[in-house]
Amino acid sequence: MRVLVTGGAGFIGSHLCEMLAERGDTVFVLDDLSTGRFENIEHIPDITCIVDSTLNQEIVRDLVREVDVVFHLAATVGVQLVVNHPIRTIVNNIQGTETILEEACRYRRRLLITSTSEVYGKGTNTAFNENDDRVIGPTHRHRWCYAASKAIDEFLALAYWHEKRHPVVIARLFNTVGPRQTGRYGMVIPTFARQALLNEPLTVYGDGKQTRCFAYVGDVTPALVTLMDRTDLQGAVYNIGNNEPVSMEELAKRVIARAKSNATIRYVPYEQAYGPGYEDMRHREPCLKKIREAIGYQPKTSLDEILDAVIADTRNRLQHDV
Ligand code: UDP
Repeated sequence: MRVLVTGGAGFIGSHLCEMLAERGDTVFVLDDLSTGRFENIEHIPDITCIVDSTLNQEIVRDLVREVDVVFHLAATVGVQLVVNHPIRTIVNNIQGTETILEEACRYRRRLLITSTSEVYGKGTNTAFNENDDRVIGPTHRHRWCYAASKAIDEFLALAYWHEKRHPVVIARLFNTVGPRQTGRYGMVIPTFARQALLNEPLTVYGDGKQTRCFAYVGDVTPALVTLMDRTDLQGAVYNIGNNEPVSMEELAKRVIARAKSNATIRYVPYEQAYGPGYEDMRHREPCLKKIREAIGYQPKTSLDEILDAVIADTRNRLQHDV
């Protein structure tokens, strides 16, 4: 197949491109390299990378016409980036997806859109299910613009399915992690790994009792490919993630132990980390029943295995100064 991956030079996108190329697909990447890096994909044979934005409708049209299917991953992500650049977040995420949907529909190309567990917001359920209500904070708290922008993407995609029967499927990703993810935009595991290897204090935000479930990118990308391949799974949303909650305090201790580091832990108030009025989710865990029943999805990689992979990758990057 001929495949377009928007955001293909990013962390998840590059792993997806690798997998598609390995199975013999011809892969085109559209990435503005704002947070992605060409180095993430340059080792993939015969890949074509177009450095441009999903906001460039002509480019999007030309590319979509050339391929069979489109994976839309390009987005402004990362809590730090979102809080610092809310305009960029809202415009890129909404207008970019609108453009992709319009062109995919024009040429009738099957489409997968990646969304995020952020859309569940501050809900307090033990495990979020795709049909749960969403609890989003007020509009003056910039953090929520990301959740709102991705929710609009979902609404729009489902509207295309509903009104035009355009084949589109949505994957809600829960804290995907693994090699090549950078801590530069806020993500916690690469941040902790870097701090541990440099023997700097690990910055645990808030009281450290908040929990997350981290999914390995190597478990997530095959699920994306299967969701796309299965033409009977259109017009729906699927959670993808892991079911092993860990508090940030425990995570910091685990990273220190696995990196054999002497680093200490420093508790940093949220307002110092992200500015005044920041709101975090206390717990976030996916219900995986729907994706399990649909495609037999089962995360395979444990948190310790994930940490070992990220620590090894971070060590390598530090040696090469990237
Ligand atoms: N976090 C932390 N220290 C850091 C970066 C993040 O304690 O240096 C916390 C953050 O406040 C959140 C959790 O780790 O509670 C996960 O943050 P991340 O940005 O990776 O993902 P998200 O907030 O989207 O779940």
